[in-house]
Amino acid sequence: MKEITGKTKILGIIGDPVEHSLSPVMHNAAIAHLNLDYIYVPFPVKPGDLPTALAGFEAVGVVGFNATIPHKQAIIPLLTEVSPLARSVGAVNTVWRTPTGWAGTNTDVEGFLAPLLSIPCQWHQIKAVVLGTGGAARAVVAGCAQLGCQEIIILGRNQEKVAAFVASWDLSPLPVTITPHNWEELPQILPQAGLLVNCTPVGMYPHIDETPVSADLIQLLPPGAIVYDLIYTPCPTQFLHLAQDVGATTIDGLEMLVCQGAAGLKTWLHRETVPVTVMRDALIQHLMR
Ligand code: NAP
Repeated sequence: MKEITGKTKILGIIGDPVEHSLSPVMHNAAIAHLNLDYIYVPFPVKPGDLPTALAGFEAVGVVGFNATIPHKQAIIPLLTEVSPLARSVGAVNTVWRTPTGWAGTNTDVEGFLAPLLSIPCQWHQIKAVVLGTGGAARAVVAGCAQLGCQEIIILGRNQEKVAAFVASWDLSPLPVTITPHNWEELPQILPQAGLLVNCTPVGMYPHIDETPVSADLIQLLPPGAIVYDLIYTPCPTQFLHLAQDVGATTIDGLEMLVCQGAAGLKTWLHRETVPVTVMRDALIQHLMR
């Protein structure tokens, strides 16, 4: 890495907590590879401190930053420009400075789609089943809509949250047909799932023996199903091991993490390409430590 001086340009991530973010690992690896005078720093920012943090970032000339939990929604009213995609998703994860203020977009959708786009598939014939109704599920629904999935089925453990999630897409410009279902309906839903996506933290470290779908139920998936887990610690999860055992095509959360980061870095650096392989390898090496 280059020596840090008064000329070094600052990128970063805000969150609460942010200590365990892997974004600095992949971004600083790319910056070093490109021999750029930039640094990517994690900034712990409490929810109530968000406006102060943005004013401080402006004062010290921060070029851009990622926003993670709990700031992805709360930051929207503080931005002068929000991309239509981020408005549809209702969350911003990538912010950059413009002459008139801060602008934001959502690169989680691009990150989610990247590994799917290399799979030959008639997406308009596919029903996507999404587990969970949190922030990541919103990016996944937008991604499935962009793919042109025939239907998106949402399952959550809290029916009020599921209903509110589905209703929140009513005015979306994205062509999206979402139907809500109970978690208890999994046995009826799974045989229809061409694409099954885990957007819950079930199975994430340290609860690595847990899985959102049991070994018995996962056998109900149709032939050729694609099973995607957004979790990247561990990588793969128990859920993906079970899916592999029944012959599904599996995708882990690492590629989404890398590709959403790469999209952000391109925006901040005004570059057409960034070293995605370097970013991925840095993360894999870090996770294997
Ligand atoms: P979030 O906003 O907290 O949402 C989590 C969702 O999971 C909520 O719907 C929650 O339901 C549900 N849930 C939690 N525990 C559950 C359980 N035991 N059984 C059933 N449902 C449960 O989190 P998020 O930001 O959407 O993130 C979700 C996951 O995606 C995390 O593991 C995160 O690490 C991963 N992620 C990965 C990437 C990537 O780049 N690969 C990006 C974003 C997120 P309630 O609302 O009822 O609690």
